[in-house]
Amino acid sequence: MSSFVNFWEEIPSLYRFYILVGGLTFFWTLESILPSRKHSAERASHALTNLFFTLTTILVNFSLAGIIFFLSYWSIHHKIGILTWIEMPLIVQIIVGLLLLDLVGAYTPHFVQHKVKWLWQYHVIHHTDTQVDSTSANRHHPGESVIRAFFTMIAVVFCGAPMWLVMLYQAASVSFSQFNHSNLKLPNWLDSLLGWIIVTPNMHRVHHHFQQPITDTNYGNIFSFWDKIFGTYIAMEEKDIVFGIDTYTDPNENSKILSLIKIPFLGYREPSGGDKK
Ligand SMILES: [Zn+2]
Repeated sequence: MSSFVNFWEEIPSLYRFYILVGGLTFFWTLESILPSRKHSAERASHALTNLFFTLTTILVNFSLAGIIFFLSYWSIHHKIGILTWIEMPLIVQIIVGLLLLDLVGAYTPHFVQHKVKWLWQYHVIHHTDTQVDSTSANRHHPGESVIRAFFTMIAVVFCGAPMWLVMLYQAASVSFSQFNHSNLKLPNWLDSLLGWIIVTPNMHRVHHHFQQPITDTNYGNIFSFWDKIFGTYIAMEEKDIVFGIDTYTDPNENSKILSLIKIPFLGYREPSGGDKK
């Protein structure tokens, strides 16, 4: 198992890039073969917009990686964080670590971003997407990427997570997010079965329904049970889901890169209830 730890401890940035690009290629191909919804004529330009924000996310994460690395080392050195308090076998450490990083570093900030208005003004860019697919996974405003990195720092210290575990979690997070955003039609029985443990496309699509407060549900990133434990889970028929957000229904605002970048600075918009859709 030490070679497993070593691999993630020393994983080159290029390998992490391959995981992201490989996942996108894989799910893009799969959703082309087995689409849940018919692809629009703007599929390629939509993907380019999302790839721009994927690139800014990579740049922000890359520039802040040193702080996360330092905090991981610092928390282990000072025995701060749950994983440093209890001796456990490696496999248990992996499971507990992934669960805690997902709860503190992904579910919690996602929930908070839906509740705090100035944070929502950054996160809403993710929700303006009217054609959710695998490229939507990293459609994050650069400001949101900074906010998410800040919460990752909190999660790393809370867990006392070694850097190999952080790298493992981040690689899993990228791949699972591409999967649950994908326009992939899974058989209902398979989606339901997987949904006991992980966030599935059917579960996450509800989160991208345009009408608030339905948008304020199903916050999960990798594991589906956080929503069930904390009462934020709902199920909805696929046919009733309309992608987008009720406050930005104008294509001039919700599909152009420059307009999207400006959104956090336009002020908070009250949900309209979606009756104009
Ligand atoms: Zn959200």
